[in-house]
Amino acid sequence: MRKPGQAAKGIRRVNLSAIEAASSETARRINREIILQLIHARQPISRADLARMSGLQRSTVSQIIEQLIHERWIREGAVAQLPRGRHPTMLVLNDDLVVLAADIRPRQVTVAMVDLNGRLLSRSTLPLGTDPVKAVSSMIDCMRRIRDSNQRKSLEGIGISVPGRVDKDSQFLIFAPNLKWPKFDIRQAVEQGMGLPTEMENAATACLMSELWFGRMDGVSDAVLITVSEGIGAGILANGHLVSGQHGMAGEFGHISIDPAGPRCACGQNGCWEVFGSCSAARRFYSEAVPAAKHVTFHELLNLAEEGDACALSALTKQAKYIGKGLRMVTAALSPEIVLIAGDITSAWHLFAPVIQAELEKSTLRANPPGLLPTHEGDVARLRGAAALLLHRHSIRSHHEVS
Ligand SMILES: [Zn+2]
Repeated sequence: MRKPGQAAKGIRRVNLSAIEAASSETARRINREIILQLIHARQPISRADLARMSGLQRSTVSQIIEQLIHERWIREGAVAQLPRGRHPTMLVLNDDLVVLAADIRPRQVTVAMVDLNGRLLSRSTLPLGTDPVKAVSSMIDCMRRIRDSNQRKSLEGIGISVPGRVDKDSQFLIFAPNLKWPKFDIRQAVEQGMGLPTEMENAATACLMSELWFGRMDGVSDAVLITVSEGIGAGILANGHLVSGQHGMAGEFGHISIDPAGPRCACGQNGCWEVFGSCSAARRFYSEAVPAAKHVTFHELLNLAEEGDACALSALTKQAKYIGKGLRMVTAALSPEIVLIAGDITSAWHLFAPVIQAELEKSTLRANPPGLLPTHEGDVARLRGAAALLLHRHSIRSHHEVS
């Protein structure tokens, strides 16, 4: 018989060493993120205030600051004149550091330069054809034009948001039923064409990263962001972690069939959630009611509704109801604290929110349904998302290289 605690002690020793190695690395990364977030939220801010607000030791804060200055994430700004003769040098995010962001959609791509504060410095939209080689080549030309007209800025890299899923390992776009492109390595073509580090991610996950990096997610560890455009995408934050799943496929709620007798979806199934809740669905509802007006765009539909057009209003209300219905499935699966909606529908939030909220509250599994929030400005959210993607991954990577 073993002495009490003998085997347990052995096991504990092995586990502890692994945990210690992981936790000191994790702690450094978390401390660094805390400091970056605090500077972002409270800039200009002194080292002393950063230590006080973060609860970290002054020496730890100084070490992180030196590293962040060295990597050009932040810079020293003005010297403050404080009471009792103190003159600390204030720290700000270095907004000379910029990222090129591309938001690829089924028919167009928007390219923009975004700074560390999430500001869009210049922006350009191009139509996209069905040939990915030509499309990516004109996207690269557009990126070069924007880079050349902002030569004073220091370009950190490129972030691309796509209407599909990106395999974590291969970085290939593996599921994009609405884009209809043959297999093509978009990320590598852009990285080689521009000679800059390039990251690519699903639009919904990128938008969620934007909320984490630039936004309002302080203290929230369970959230879902839904992009509503030509299709419906979802980005998931669960227990404080972004969820990607096997091959990056987690979050495809848009392709769960909610009516097997419903219309055909681009994915090949019938009656997927996005066939009823996307902007394309609202346009279909409207042309069913008004067959003469077949080619109305979603923007035109929003304008018609604002002008009091009953058919437009009814088509949009039907779409909003279906968004709410689908959100019940999302809520049952993940129990988020908040659900963020990104897309053009947020520009008519006063029309949509009550309808979505009412559906969401029907047959809810708990007393308080999740909070429902729009992201700011539909198309800006995706561009900031693409930028956040590069900033987030790059800040972690450069940290690993230095430490
Ligand atoms: Zn589908």
